[in-house]
Amino acid sequence: MATSEQSLNNSPRMHPDTIDISMTGSCQLDCQWCWGDVHKIGIEHQQDSWKNLLSSFNERGTNAVVFTGGEPLMVPFLPEIAQHAKELGMRTTLSTNAVLLARKHHKVLPFIDDLGLPLDGSTSPINKIMRPGKIDNFKKVIEGANLVLDNYPDTELTIRTVIARPNVNDVANIPEVLSNQGVNLSRIRYKMYQVEPIGPRATITNTEAWSVEEDECLEVAEEVSERYPNMHNTLQLYKNTSGRYFQVGALGNAFGTLIDDDGKPKTIELGNPMKDLSESLAMIALYYSGLDTH
Ligand code: SF4
Repeated sequence: MATSEQSLNNSPRMHPDTIDISMTGSCQLDCQWCWGDVHKIGIEHQQDSWKNLLSSFNERGTNAVVFTGGEPLMVPFLPEIAQHAKELGMRTTLSTNAVLLARKHHKVLPFIDDLGLPLDGSTSPINKIMRPGKIDNFKKVIEGANLVLDNYPDTELTIRTVIARPNVNDVANIPEVLSNQGVNLSRIRYKMYQVEPIGPRATITNTEAWSVEEDECLEVAEEVSERYPNMHNTLQLYKNTSGRYFQVGALGNAFGTLIDDDGKPKTIELGNPMKDLSESLAMIALYYSGLDTH
C-alpha cells in the first residue's frame, strides 16, 4: 500500500510551476516562428482579469510568470500586473523585443527579476531577416542590455537567440557584438533555441528555408562555449519542450507543447482558465503529469 507521501508524489500535478501570459497579440515585429496570437488580436481582458488569473494559479502553487509576446510593453497596465505578481511572491520574467524599453523601463523593470531580450544576428541586416517588422530592434536590444546592466543590478539579463536557417552560421558571432558594444558577457545568460516547426507560422518555419537540425544547433552551442568561456549559455532543442510551456493567450485560451511519437512538437490546447479554471487544471493534470514547466 502506498504511503501518504508516495500518494502525493504520484498524484497528477494540477498546476504549472510557471505560467506564460500574452496579454495582447499586438507586436511591432513579425517573426516567422512567433508563438503569440495573431497580431490583430489586441487586449481582450483588462488588468483585474489578469490579476485574478495570477492569484488563482499562485494559490495552487504556480510561483513564476513570464510576460511574453505579443509585445508585453504594448500593454499599458503591464507594470500593475508585474507589481501584483511580485506582491504574490512570484518570480517575474519579461520577454520583450526592446522596442519600447527605453521609454517604459522606469515603470516596469522594478518589478522584473529576469529580462529576456532577443538578438538573432550579429548585424542589423541578419537580425532583420529573423525579426522583420516596421522597426529595427537590433540597436534597441544592445542599448537595452547596457541599460539593464548599468541601472538594474537586481535584474538578471538573458539574451535569447532563435537558431534558424538564415542565421545558423552567424549565431556564434552575436556575443562578440554585444561585448564590442560594452555588454559584460560574464553578467548575462545567453540562451539559444532551435526554431520550432509549430505555431501560427509553422508553414514557414517547417521548410528548408527555416528549419535547422539538432546537430547543427549543438555545433553552434559548442562554438559559443569555446569562444566565450566566461559567458553562461544554454541551448534548448525542441525535442525537450514537451510540457515545458503553459501559455495563456490574449483571449484567455491556454496552450502548450507535446512531442509526438515521431519526435515532432505539436501544440496542444489546455482550455481557457479565464472562463473555466477547473477544466484547464484538469487538462494540465492529464497532459503535463510528471513534466515541469520551465
Ligand atoms: S517580437 Fe516576439 S511577439 Fe513580436 S512577432 Fe517576434 S516573437 Fe512574436
